[in-house]
Amino acid sequence: MFEKVLIANRGEIALRIHRACREMGIHTVAVHSTADADAMHVRLADESVCIGPPPAKDSYLNIPAILTAAAITGADAIHPGIGFMSENANFAEMVEQHGFTFIGPTPEHIRIMGDKVTAKQTVKAHGLPTVPGSDGALKDLDDAKKNAADIGYPVLIKAAAGGGGKGMKVARDAAGLEEAYTLARGEARAAFGNDEVYMEKYLEKPRHIEVQLLGDTHGNAVHFGERDCSIQRRHQKVIEEAPSPGLNADERVQIGELAAKVIRKIGYRGVGTIEFLYEQGKFYFIEMNTRLQIEHTITEMVTGIDLVREQIRVAAGLPLSYTQKDITFSGHAIECRINAENPETFAPSPGKIVGYHPPGGLDVRVDSALYDGYRVPPHYDSMIAKLVVHGTNRNECLLRLRRALEEFVIGGIDTTLPLHRRLIAEPDFINGDYDIHWLEHYLEKK
Ligand code: ADP
Repeated sequence: MFEKVLIANRGEIALRIHRACREMGIHTVAVHSTADADAMHVRLADESVCIGPPPAKDSYLNIPAILTAAAITGADAIHPGIGFMSENANFAEMVEQHGFTFIGPTPEHIRIMGDKVTAKQTVKAHGLPTVPGSDGALKDLDDAKKNAADIGYPVLIKAAAGGGGKGMKVARDAAGLEEAYTLARGEARAAFGNDEVYMEKYLEKPRHIEVQLLGDTHGNAVHFGERDCSIQRRHQKVIEEAPSPGLNADERVQIGELAAKVIRKIGYRGVGTIEFLYEQGKFYFIEMNTRLQIEHTITEMVTGIDLVREQIRVAAGLPLSYTQKDITFSGHAIECRINAENPETFAPSPGKIVGYHPPGGLDVRVDSALYDGYRVPPHYDSMIAKLVVHGTNRNECLLRLRRALEEFVIGGIDTTLPLHRRLIAEPDFINGDYDIHWLEHYLEKK
């Protein structure tokens, strides 16, 4: 097992990884920008190294600085966390070339799944159902027109290098196609430096269902059931739950086993998530994330398994500690992502925390790097806390979540706590009756 792991990230996820390492007897090295010198991940780690100024491109995305920090502290392995370097195949390659272990999949698997066109072709060849769409990237506008006529409107133009919902535009009819195609390409070029786009049928009422997976270097792969992440704003998840209120037990096992088979066949190492849209009893693959997910917490709550610990173990070459039949599901879990944003306008709200009281009690988990007096910097993602609640069933989970949201105090800045309090009281949410467009419609109506 590793003796020392460098955590190339910040905020709650850096803390989450630190906690797993600590329980495994592994020393941790935090890296941080000058804006994060007082951050909790720096305070709790055994050692820390400042890797640059506040902009992420000069610090958390600065490969030479991260590798140098690992070398001078004598780390054995680097955990990239979520976002930043976690899906950068070149980084994974350089980490290994410099003699460290990358806690994640091989660079080759990151590359295949990072390009959504190749990813779709790969999983399709292994038997996963995909959204009807163009066969690969679109060559030009004429090609887009031809494909749209075949697929049928509405269609969605998506960036091959996509992520975070960027470079995605809907065309409702032939008249709107040119604009959607041009806008999606422009956005993709600006965000990813790659304007390759492809086309999919735009599904009108799907749920977002994803399967948590884990594979080792000994040919084993298991699934940990599904998560429903349909409550989204601008294609970004806001609330997630496990299990999905929209699936039955048979569908759960079926899609879990199908997804696990794919990663077993490709020899995938580490944690990963295969995402599907689900409509009228059918699953359609949309993408695979080759890293830990923010919402891994709800899977941990219903399985009792520490996924970060498993991720570290397989990176160290150990076989999985669980077979599929050891993984059992108990009760229901929901996560609310709390952002430093105005709950009405969603304008970012960085600043000093004045008064902080996280909720507690049975089956309540708060993953956050906040503390009273902490200053939320303006430079990074606005998510500042995850409230994760478990109950023996969905109803108990909802009652507990309501109670926990009432208790939660984050003073001094605007947060999306009031929005969450409203959302979980909505009859549609209580009934589990929602799809990926529900939240946008709800926000428009107000
Ligand atoms: P990203 O990598 O940018 O997150 P995804 O392919 O995972 O992109 O899609 C993000 C979200 O966009 C999905 O959860 C869903 O809400 C929406 N979406 C993606 N593809 C489709 C589609 N074919 N039809 C309708 N909505 C879609």
